[in-house]
Amino acid sequence: MSTSTYLEPLGNMIGGEWRPARSGETLPVEDPATGRPFSQIPASGAADIDDAIASARSTLRSGSWSRLQPSERGRIMWQLASLIRRDGEALAHAETRDSGKPIREAREDIAGTADIFEYYAGAASKLTGQSHPLPSAQLGMVMRFPIGVVGTITPWNFPIYVAAWKVAPALACGNSVILKPSELASLTCLGLGGLALEAGMPAGALNVVSGTGGDAGAPLAGHPDVDLLAFTGGVVTGRKVMSSRAQLVRPVQMELGGKSPNIVFDDADFDRAVRGAAFGIFFAQGENCNAGSRVLVQDTIYERFVEGLAGMARSIRVLPPTDERCQMGALISRAHLEKVAGYVETGVREGARLVTGGRRLDDGALQGGHFYAPTVLADVRPHHRVFTEEIFGPVVVVTPFHDEEEAIQLANATEYGLAAGVWTSNVSRALRCVQEIDSGYVWVNTFNYTPVEAPFGGVKGSGFGRDCGMQALDTYTTWKTVAWATAPFTNWYES
Ligand code: NAD
Repeated sequence: MSTSTYLEPLGNMIGGEWRPARSGETLPVEDPATGRPFSQIPASGAADIDDAIASARSTLRSGSWSRLQPSERGRIMWQLASLIRRDGEALAHAETRDSGKPIREAREDIAGTADIFEYYAGAASKLTGQSHPLPSAQLGMVMRFPIGVVGTITPWNFPIYVAAWKVAPALACGNSVILKPSELASLTCLGLGGLALEAGMPAGALNVVSGTGGDAGAPLAGHPDVDLLAFTGGVVTGRKVMSSRAQLVRPVQMELGGKSPNIVFDDADFDRAVRGAAFGIFFAQGENCNAGSRVLVQDTIYERFVEGLAGMARSIRVLPPTDERCQMGALISRAHLEKVAGYVETGVREGARLVTGGRRLDDGALQGGHFYAPTVLADVRPHHRVFTEEIFGPVVVVTPFHDEEEAIQLANATEYGLAAGVWTSNVSRALRCVQEIDSGYVWVNTFNYTPVEAPFGGVKGSGFGRDCGMQALDTYTTWKTVAWATAPFTNWYES
C-alpha cells in the first residue's frame, strides 16, 4: 500500500459507487504545512445530497443492512476496522497532509478509528428491548429499531476519528448513513466510504459526500427525509443546523465547542501537572474541542507554574507534520491562523501577559505553512474575551485562584461545559470538583484521553447527546411500544 493511496479521492461514495459532484465542480485540497493545493474533492450540492439520501433510504427499506443479523453487521464492521488497520499508514499520511497534524498523532487517530469500529462491531448484537407487565392483562414489549436515515456533519480537527464516533454506532444499530465531512479535511472520510464497501457493507449503507457547509451541509441538515442529524462543529454552525431541524421537528445530536478549565491545586504533583497542562492545550495544535485552554492555578504556586508551562511550550518541536520528529504541526488554514493570532492580540490589549509564543512561525521548512508558536498568556481575568471564547489554537490562558470555591466558580464561568481537568493529591477535593464542575467529562490527574468505551459530550453551550460508549446507541435507535392483549377484550360500551 502506497502512502499516497488516499490523497486523490475517486469521488463521493453514493449508493456503492464513486461519483463526481453532479455539477462536475471540485474544491482544492490545501496542505496546511505549505499553503499549497495538492488534490481536489467533489464540490457537492443539494442534488448530490438528494442522491445520497435516496440511496440511504432505499438501502434502509431493503433491509440489506437494517435487518441483517446483528452479529453479521458486527462482522462486517469488524472487517472494516481490519481494513482501516491494514491501510493505517496511508490513511495517517493523508490525514496529516489534509489537516496539518503531526504524523504520530494522525497514526493515533487512525488506530483510534479502528478501535471505534471494533467497539461498535461488538455492540451491534447487544442491542436489546424490554418487556413490561401492563394493566388489563397486556404484555408490553418495547422494541428497539434503527432511527432510519442518519445525516452526520463533522469538523476538520479529527476528521476520520470524530466521523467514526457518529458513523460507527449509527451503522451498528442498522441505520443508513450520509457523512458530510468538513470541506477542509475530507480525504480520509471519502476513503472510509470505499473501505466500507470493500468490507462487505451493502451499497447505500454508508454514503460520503464532500462539499462546503453552505452547499452540502445545509441541504443535508434541512432535508425532511433525514430522520436524525448528528453534528459536531462550532456553536454558530450548530445553531443554524438546529434551526433548520426545528422547522422539520426532527431530532439532532450536538457536539459543539469548549473552553475547558484545567484546575491545578498546590497539592498536585507539580511536574505531572505542568506536563498535563501542556499536553492538554498543545496536543493537536490546540485545535481540539476539549482542549484545556484555561489553566486555573492556585496562587501559592502560580508564578512557578506559569514558568514551567512556558518552558514546556518553548520545548515543543513545531515542524512540518510529516517529519517524524514533529510534535506540533500546522493550523488548518490561513484564515484560522489569523483568527488565533487576533485572539492573542486581543488578550494582550485586554491586559494579559504574553509569556511565550504569540507569533507566526514561517522560517525555513515552515515557510508558507500555517504554523503558530505555542503560546502562554498569563494573568488572564474572567472578563477578558480570551477567558471565555474558544480560540481553537495553541494558546493557553492562565488565571490564578485562591481557594477551591474560587477555582470552581472560575471553572464554571463560561457558556461551555464540555470537559475539565483537576490536578490534586487530595481525593476528597477531587471528588468535590468532579461533582461541582459543569461539564460532560472530568479528568483527574490526566487530560485529553477520550477512549470509545466511555461517553463523550457536553452540557450547557457545548451541546447535548453523547458520542461513544453504549450511550451513543440511544441516539441512533428509537423505541416502539407494543401492547399485546392476553385476555378477552371487554366491551367499553356495554354499560
Ligand atoms: P464548523 O462549525 O465550521 O464546521 C463543522 C461542519 O459543519 C463542517 O462539515 C462544515 O462544512 C459544516 N457546516 C458549515 N456551515 C454549515 C451550515 N450552514 N449547515 C450545515 N453544515 C454546515 O466547525 P469546524 O471549524 O469544522 O470545527 C471546529 C469546531 O468544532 C470547534 O468549535 C470545535 O470545538 C468543534 N468540535 C467539537 C467536538 C466535540 O466533540 N464536541 C469535536 C471536534 C470539534
